[in-house]
Amino acid sequence: MQAVRLHQYEQMPVIEEVAEPKITGAFDVIVRIGGAGLCRTDLHIIEGQWAEKSGVTLPYILGHENAGWVHAVGSAVSNVAVGDTVIVHPLVSCGLCRACRAGNDMHCVNASFPGISVDGGMAHFLKTNARAVVKLNPTLQPKDIAALADAGLTAYHAVKKASALLYPGTKVVVIGAGGLGHIGIQCLKALTPAEIIVLDRSSAALALTKSWGADYQVLADGSHVAKVKEITGGQGAEAVIDFVGEQGAEQDAVQMLRRAGSHFIIGYGGTLRVPTIDIISTEINFIGNLVGSYNDLDELMTLTAQGKVTLHTAVYPLDAALDAIHALDTGNLRGRGILVPSGA
Ligand SMILES: [Zn+2]
Ligand SMILES: [Zn+2]
Repeated sequence: MQAVRLHQYEQMPVIEEVAEPKITGAFDVIVRIGGAGLCRTDLHIIEGQWAEKSGVTLPYILGHENAGWVHAVGSAVSNVAVGDTVIVHPLVSCGLCRACRAGNDMHCVNASFPGISVDGGMAHFLKTNARAVVKLNPTLQPKDIAALADAGLTAYHAVKKASALLYPGTKVVVIGAGGLGHIGIQCLKALTPAEIIVLDRSSAALALTKSWGADYQVLADGSHVAKVKEITGGQGAEAVIDFVGEQGAEQDAVQMLRRAGSHFIIGYGGTLRVPTIDIISTEINFIGNLVGSYNDLDELMTLTAQGKVTLHTAVYPLDAALDAIHALDTGNLRGRGILVPSGA
């Protein structure tokens, strides 16, 4: 099969023929890929940012946002059958550890992470397991929803946590009106009554957020912290959901928090510096977000099937993956990049 494999950090991956994955365990599931999302994390992987954390052995196949159809199953798999349309939870979890038993699939102590720590889905086939596959309404097309497996899931997971704090009358700041922000705003509309303030450097991106239901658009031009303060009556917002996490956004977020407010970090790359006295004297909170649980993904797919969450995509054939990576890296990819293998 054709696959997008990373051979060396700081070099573009290579599109090449590799052997198809095979069923080896009773709970294995092989998915025929219908769409694999391209993500900023793939750029960070190529840059080598994940080398130590993932411990992956090069070369390996990229792609951690996957959807498709069940192609083969191990002898003990009973929740899906060959031909089912599925979206793939990003972790292959064990189901037996404490985190798995609590429903926190992303903290499984025995997990692998296809596309990060083992072979991913930028290929014709992906190997995962029975616990990772969410069976979908067959009317959903894998290429339309693949990016919800990670980008969407992470946004939903953060918004769901924030929703507990966002009662009527509250305000929430969303930093970044790109692919993640787009999903985040739709999830906020679906889950909370909070008024939504969106920040972005692009006025074109901000203009789009009106149709997604955002209440205030603030251009990140240097005066944005003051503007958010003004909109929130000088108090700041109960929650800031930071889809950028670098280039100063992470510091701005802290300035926009109300007393006891919460900063949800999703985008990454920067370093947060906050005097501890500021944290104790205002009781502000910092909350990390790593993908989400299986149930989060299942809930997000319900919102998608109901038409409450939609995704703008830019589809590329799998063999044009390098063009897509280049477009993402140079800021020329509109919507979420999706790679589709030939014949899918
Ligand atoms: Zn991703
Ligand atoms: Zn586990």
